[in-house]
Amino acid sequence: MSQPENLIAGAAGTPASVWRAATQLQRLPRIRSEELLPPGCRLVVVAPHPDDEVLACGGLLASLVEGAHEGLLISVTDGEGSHPGSLRWTPQRLRNTREVESLTALTRLGLDLQRWDWQRLHLPDSGVKTLDLAERLRALIRPGDQLISTWRQDGHCDHEATALACAQVAAGCGARHIEAPVWAWHWAVPGDLRLPWARARRLDLDEAAVQRKREAIQAHASQLEGPEPVLGERLLETLLQPFEMFFLPAGGAP
Ligand SMILES: [Zn+2]
Repeated sequence: MSQPENLIAGAAGTPASVWRAATQLQRLPRIRSEELLPPGCRLVVVAPHPDDEVLACGGLLASLVEGAHEGLLISVTDGEGSHPGSLRWTPQRLRNTREVESLTALTRLGLDLQRWDWQRLHLPDSGVKTLDLAERLRALIRPGDQLISTWRQDGHCDHEATALACAQVAAGCGARHIEAPVWAWHWAVPGDLRLPWARARRLDLDEAAVQRKREAIQAHASQLEGPEPVLGERLLETLLQPFEMFFLPAGGAP
């Protein structure tokens, strides 16, 4: 995760308490994990940065543990751009550290890494190009795959390029593409007309799944340390709500 450039510097973001009080979220149509991932389908999670797979859908991944689904995680970048200009966190150190953090996080979610394939594409952090990524994804995505990515208007260039590439490839090969907000929880507010509420569905998480997600996020220590961590306290509190929100494909709502 690196912070989106268009966020107002120092802005604290929408507090979790505001999201918690929002009747709109309480009333969102529910979806079950079996609907997000029908039996027999392969789940493919496409994460622009190491940790986006946890922040966007870690609760879903933790909920699937019992089913031991076949899956593929695609890490688009190595996340080397999360601390621009830092002497402590150089790009090379971030590349190495964040790979280890990801592995720890996936284990903490309870993923069966024997059944999950993990492809790292090493595209440049904050420089993901939709066309380049789509070309790489075409070799990896199969018809019938259930593809989850960040949202195409999430506010970070890599999150958006990743979603657009996934949408293109899914449409071309008959996969289903579902998007999940990450940074939108920071900059949006309940009722925000910039979010596609009509295709939003809420996956309720049990306590065990939230706890696994919490522990998995804590594995990404490079993003949490310091007086101004990349992942701020407010955003984390919001991301640890007992539910996750997914945007279904337009016209494809079950
Ligand atoms: Zn990210």
